[in-house]
Amino acid sequence: MLYFDASHQKGFGGCDYDCIRASKPLLNKMVVLDPGHGGFYTGAVHYGFRESDINLSVALKLREKLCRLGAKVVMTRTSDISLVPANSNLEADLQARVEVAKTSHADIFVSLHVDGVPNINLEGPASYFAEKHSSGLACNIQTCLINETGAVDNGVSPADFYVLVHNNIPAALIEMGYLSNPAEALCLTDNDYQHLIADGISKGIVSYFLCL
Ligand SMILES: [Zn+2]
Repeated sequence: MLYFDASHQKGFGGCDYDCIRASKPLLNKMVVLDPGHGGFYTGAVHYGFRESDINLSVALKLREKLCRLGAKVVMTRTSDISLVPANSNLEADLQARVEVAKTSHADIFVSLHVDGVPNINLEGPASYFAEKHSSGLACNIQTCLINETGAVDNGVSPADFYVLVHNNIPAALIEMGYLSNPAEALCLTDNDYQHLIADGISKGIVSYFLCL
């Protein structure tokens, strides 16, 4: 309602319509944030750190930033839980995440992950999409994420991850870095660096909507 009130009230809160629009570029946008894994699905575990915890921690920071920019944000989880009972399979957990996007009539879906591989030298974020209509979202996020963090750029690639393939809306999966790299593991679990990641992804989302 602030949006419409402000358009008729110059000087509202010291700001006019254009100013409100500039400060709330995500007004009326619905974003689903999916912190990957959770509960008994921990994802990658290295040096005592769990992927599921990092994904959630960044997602909570990102939610706050997106809300400040005017977006409505729906999270697939806000605590350390899986989305299905313990006797379900992984696919059911992933489908539950897609269902969140469908039932909330979201504009975009962004899944957050960190990578873990045997080669401890690999570092830096990579972003993925499945359908052509999602490539712009992944590209904008990757560019802004690298600008913000200064991390090694592993680029944007098509991939057939479940949550990407089964979403009807533009969807991107972000591998925010390698938990298997000891130096990057310290960054990924650092509060300030997590804010940089969240800043980068939020700027990427703003830039995506501006480019539409
Ligand atoms: Zn993962």
